[in-house]
Amino acid sequence: MSVPLSQHRTETAFSDHKLPLLHDEAVAEAHRCLFCHDAPCIAACPTAIDIPQFIRMISTGNTRHSARTIFESNILGASCARVCPVEVLCVGACVYNDLDQPPIQIGRLQRFSTDTAIDNDWQFFEAGADTGRHVGLIGGGPASLAAAHELRRHGHACTIYERDEVIGGLNVTGVAPYKLRADAALEEAEWILRIGGINVKTGVEVGRDLQLQELERTHDAVFVGVGLGEDSPLRVPGEDLEGVFGAVEWIKRMKLTTVDLSQVRRCVVVGGGNTAIDAARETRALGVPEVTLVYRGQRAGASGYAHELSAALEAGVQTKWQSVPTAFEGDDHEKPAPRVQRVRCVHLDIRKQPIAGSEFVMDADLVLIAIGQSRLGAMFTALDGMRVEDGRLLTDDDGFTGRRGWYAGGDCRNGGKEVVNAAAEGKRAAVAIDAFLNSAGSARRG
Ligand code: SF4
Repeated sequence: MSVPLSQHRTETAFSDHKLPLLHDEAVAEAHRCLFCHDAPCIAACPTAIDIPQFIRMISTGNTRHSARTIFESNILGASCARVCPVEVLCVGACVYNDLDQPPIQIGRLQRFSTDTAIDNDWQFFEAGADTGRHVGLIGGGPASLAAAHELRRHGHACTIYERDEVIGGLNVTGVAPYKLRADAALEEAEWILRIGGINVKTGVEVGRDLQLQELERTHDAVFVGVGLGEDSPLRVPGEDLEGVFGAVEWIKRMKLTTVDLSQVRRCVVVGGGNTAIDAARETRALGVPEVTLVYRGQRAGASGYAHELSAALEAGVQTKWQSVPTAFEGDDHEKPAPRVQRVRCVHLDIRKQPIAGSEFVMDADLVLIAIGQSRLGAMFTALDGMRVEDGRLLTDDDGFTGRRGWYAGGDCRNGGKEVVNAAAEGKRAAVAIDAFLNSAGSARRG
């Protein structure tokens, strides 16, 4: 189903930045919960996990029931426990914040229950009675995994088509390893697939190896969960030099293979979003002495989470606000290919226009460009009824695209949000697909 991960992945150098709670710590923290009526923490969770209920179960020693409560709402509850920005979701909404007391550590409690369940291979859900219907899912990330699991509970057969050699999407290839390592993400994916009846075809790129029309002809419904595409280029001279990477591509290499940073003294990361901040924290933690975040806006305008940025600064990451690279330079005589050595930059004014005479040069052996990723909606416009805006697939609230039998969820729909959003959208679309398949006239085409 999936290729084994290398034992020598660079990401194995990282350990958890939040240690898992021990049993007694979890029970003690659970006892602090006020089990609020109309709990604001539930409203803040995109998958609406019954948080007071699962915490109550921990407090009574019923970890199994606690884990089931979580997975009933979010089958990716284990990875979400580690990667969710809880500071701006459930924990940020906890009533303790208004009482000037530490909020309940909901993410760590969720991790306690879900890790226990997966470590013990507890299974909570069975596939429904076979309906004879078959759903194709494009992409093997969190949205498709959530959708496929829900579809199996309704008895529909599923095939996931994943272009990478490994399933799991960004959970495996893109999440900062101090939050979630690839092996843990892959273990979760394989645990989800244990419901059975989900055929996974890795190394298959829809549109290249399998045409959309063929996919439509051979399935009763299709879920699109392709996520986002390649790193967006900066489009300045020298971007093809050795040592200049898209940040998502570099993070993927670091998580799945060995990257050599022994000669890297100075790293420049371009961007102000969460990927840029992650890349900066990761290179710094891997021992690069000087890491500088270059962002075209002011600190307050950076799209990355404030708490993540603060953590990066505490780790020694430096910043150049209101600045942008204008060229990357190496030495042309270098063999076999010139490697980046310098980054030419210019300061920007408040309207993000270059300030004359403000040019400066930074030495750099590694440059990571994190200014966004391409959107993949255009590949579906050949199908009548599919609507795309700014590269995003447009759907209704249930993920219906406008073309009969086609649904979408996750980053390709929302433009790039959290794992928990992908999980919520995948599950919601699966419920809508089930209703579609059960409705009159949805018999298999062809
Ligand atoms: Fe417990 Fe905080 Fe949620 Fe209230 S808001 S139920 S105290 S976690």
